[in-house]
Amino acid sequence: MSAIVIDGKAAAQKIRAGVKVRAAALREKGVLPCLAVILVGEDPASLSYVGAKEKALTEAGMASRDIRLPQSTGEGELLALIGQLNRDPAIHGILVQLPLPAHIGEDTVIAAIDPAKDVDGFHPFSVGSMVLERPGFLPCTPLGVLTLLRELPLTLAGAHAVVVGRSNIVGKPLANLLCRRDLNATVTLCHTGTRDLAARCREADILIAAAGKPGLISGGMIKEGAAVIDVGVNRVADPAAKKGFRLRGDVDFESALERAGWITPVPGGVGPMTIAMLLQNVLRAAEQQEQGHG
Ligand code: NAD
Repeated sequence: MSAIVIDGKAAAQKIRAGVKVRAAALREKGVLPCLAVILVGEDPASLSYVGAKEKALTEAGMASRDIRLPQSTGEGELLALIGQLNRDPAIHGILVQLPLPAHIGEDTVIAAIDPAKDVDGFHPFSVGSMVLERPGFLPCTPLGVLTLLRELPLTLAGAHAVVVGRSNIVGKPLANLLCRRDLNATVTLCHTGTRDLAARCREADILIAAAGKPGLISGGMIKEGAAVIDVGVNRVADPAAKKGFRLRGDVDFESALERAGWITPVPGGVGPMTIAMLLQNVLRAAEQQEQGHG
């Protein structure tokens, strides 16, 4: 058996096209959806992530306000800036690229963002709303994974979903969303304290890898026909590659292909969906604020 490879780029493109149409409708009303993108320092991976987000916004007919701050920026300075952006009616969403330098408290900074502009869905109010199944912004990567899963010809209700990784931005929200009443999956959340990870993974109808460990999940850990979603993006050294590294997922793609029913590639799977979901959230924020619900 060889798995069907899920085309995340194509799925993301479809969503981006829809966002573009709705953004044009907002512009007609005189509203240009705008995301403030704050980057502190010059981490190369972060620089490339924010660049990709800003480019995607422009392509969708939306705007970004690019704010680059030096590594030495103080927490107070950053909080004051977020306060200004919260009050600025031309800004609909605020994104602070993580990680922040060690001298700045990430929790404090995220908590300072107005939840109406929290398009990353990381604010404690957004997280609480998610858990309580109330309206609010959902985090982009988990939302992207769910959107891909919904496109597959499989029934989520009653399925056993195994999530590997318990981070606040991927694993935990995914586990939470999958067991919502409207999705109704049965969820197992695995982490570094899990005994016999391979056995847990082999029970999965839907296996989501978000551990940040290249090749952690091998074909032998996958149930025949399972849907495998690989969130992992790991840089592994490759002297033959132009940049000296290549991207590898948490799943050993070659051996997993032989067992899975569906699988996402890395790159070209979850990554493009994350950006598409961010665009969708920015658009929603602008629509809500335009209607005075922000
Ligand atoms: P993280 O390091 O914050 O969390 C990783 C989690 O995996 C931890 O909770 C840990 O308990 C668990 N884990 C680690 N090793 C394990 C092991 N051997 N067995 C079982 N559990 C293990 O990472 P994160 O921010 O959640 O990101 C996870 C991966 O997803 C990374 O590779 C990251 O680059 C990638 N990512 C991709 C996107 C995207 O858009 N595609 C977005 C966010 C993160």
